[in-house]
Amino acid sequence: MKNNIERRRFDCLVIGAGGAGLRAALQLVQADLHVAVVSKVFPTRSHTVAAQGGMNAALGNLTPDNWHWHMYDTVKGGDFLGDQDAIEYMCRAASRLVIELEHFGVPFTRLENGRIYQRPFGGQSQNYGGEQAARTCAAADRTGHAILQSLYQQNLRSRTHFFDEYFATDLLVSEEGVTQGVMVIDIESGQPLIIEAKTILLATGGSARIFRTSTNAMINTGDGMAMALRAGLPIQDMEFVQFHPTGIAGLGMLISEATRGEGGYLINKDGERFMERYAPHALDLASRDVVSRAIATEIREGRGCGENADYVLLQLHHLDPDIVKSRLPGIRGMSIRFTGIDPVDAPIPVFPTAHYTMGGIPTNRKGQVVVPLHHAPEEPQQGLYAIGECACVSVHGANRLGGNSLLDIVVFGRAAGNHIIDFLADNRFHTPLSEASIEQAMDHIQRWDKKGEGESVADITKQMRVMMEQYCGVFRTQDVLDEGVEKGRELLARLADVRLGDQSKVFNTARIEAFELENQLEVAMATLLSAAARTESRGAHSRLDFPDRDDREWMKHTLYYNRDGGVLDYKPVRTQPLTVDSFPPVERVY
Ligand SMILES: Cc1cc2nc3c(=O)[nH]c(=O)nc-3n(C[C@H](O)[C@H](O)[C@H](O)COP(=O)(O)OP(=O)(O)OC[C@H]3O[C@@H](n4cnc5c(N)ncnc54)[C@H](O)[C@@H]3O)c2cc1C
Repeated sequence: MKNNIERRRFDCLVIGAGGAGLRAALQLVQADLHVAVVSKVFPTRSHTVAAQGGMNAALGNLTPDNWHWHMYDTVKGGDFLGDQDAIEYMCRAASRLVIELEHFGVPFTRLENGRIYQRPFGGQSQNYGGEQAARTCAAADRTGHAILQSLYQQNLRSRTHFFDEYFATDLLVSEEGVTQGVMVIDIESGQPLIIEAKTILLATGGSARIFRTSTNAMINTGDGMAMALRAGLPIQDMEFVQFHPTGIAGLGMLISEATRGEGGYLINKDGERFMERYAPHALDLASRDVVSRAIATEIREGRGCGENADYVLLQLHHLDPDIVKSRLPGIRGMSIRFTGIDPVDAPIPVFPTAHYTMGGIPTNRKGQVVVPLHHAPEEPQQGLYAIGECACVSVHGANRLGGNSLLDIVVFGRAAGNHIIDFLADNRFHTPLSEASIEQAMDHIQRWDKKGEGESVADITKQMRVMMEQYCGVFRTQDVLDEGVEKGRELLARLADVRLGDQSKVFNTARIEAFELENQLEVAMATLLSAAARTESRGAHSRLDFPDRDDREWMKHTLYYNRDGGVLDYKPVRTQPLTVDSFPPVERVY
């Protein structure tokens, strides 16, 4: 079988057509390289399309601003776990890349003077923790949609080659052990295809779908992270999962922070604006981990709303209805559709919902995947890159600030593209793929051809998502996390007995969901084990049994390998920026 598999060859293969993958592909194709992009869904359906609020850059169009203030906020927002060289690089590049997107065709909302509109978002300050800044560049509440469409159009114009609706299953290595290819399945025909490339760039997005209540698209199943794990690479800082404070209660869809940026606020059952107690200065625009914990605490202490006292309310109806209608049209529509409530008349029921994966495949600021070698300095993996939400640079540290991910994907998409261009100038030849690697990838695919009775993919997926929510949520303790690890291991063991009822090849989405389940379980185990080991509270990782941040013991990145049932290692935080002084860790108050 393996000799009959069709093969294609490119200079660079980008896996993922979200904002990160498309920005990198554009850089490469414009340098006349032979580039292909593989995506399991049509490119403009990638999760970037759902980003609402906007993208941060210190343009200073509404409030005084500069990139160094943005850098300070990002380091502080990440609770001092972010790598400061990468953060400096990102914040410095931001303004230029927003203008570049404008030139690519992104229809940003305008101020009366014609400049790009910027809204205040959580964790943004002027002058290192002073007054609220307005740093988030927005195209109404559809910024991700606008960016993704523009990048896709630019790629079409430059003739990037797209493999739409192809699912990548495994990385393939050359005879020298270097990643030089990927096994993919054409979803329409079910046929495998080997794509060989001198450079491989993973841009497969996040994994917050491992939680039941989630803002993420169904496709955010951590495939790239799991592929890296199966190839023997580690994934980093997976215990840090961002719970967005305002998902629609009971459903999880995102009500953007833009609502609070425009002046909305949270109230409990007594109508009290409770953020005054948790963040007297920043109020509802404290960073997301702080607001999520405040909501969870209000509910735990009996001040939740509704019959079951299990949500709080987000009030917008004190705002000018025209502002809500013009700046938040998508949010308003979503609220009306899913809750029947028009936010210009009444408040929206909200509850924290899994939103963003701070962790991912470890990289440097050039997008190269890096692996520490027995505590020696990290080594870049030749020709292998990761960017966007599947990667961990790490610019978001222990907690991402709203508006910094759309920025991350374009900054590091471009940076990785540039590094690949340089790399290919010196590395002009393909090396043959190892037959063993192809065989292993084929065995993986054929595992789902096994017939007979067994458990169903849907059941295990559902149980995993509930398990993650119950054992690895906003607040964590040792007992509960350890129990979660056991439950996760049981689910992993049961995976061996799962069978597909539908064995057809043509557009068999059940088969794709089986691969996605395997990937999600890998990522869930990484998240649970990393969280159970970290005995401190930092950013989004909040331990009731270890309520304080412990810089002496824990100012380090977690690395998780999936061998031997899960192995953990650690590496230092890069506290030294590129050109400015380091921001030393201090207590984080808002
Ligand atoms: C509802 C919502 C709102 C958000 N709002 C904002 C915001 O306002 N501002 C902000 O900064 N951030 C926001 N974020 C976060 C931000 O949008 C994402 O982190 C970012 O867009 C991720 O981009 P990406 O390119 O890394 O991945 P994605 O856009 O998720 O793209 C992943 C790509 O990988 C492909 N893929 C995955 N697995 C495979 C596979 N096995 N085979 C083939 N292809 C595969 C997919 O098809 C897709 O093309 C929001 C996120 C959500 C969920």
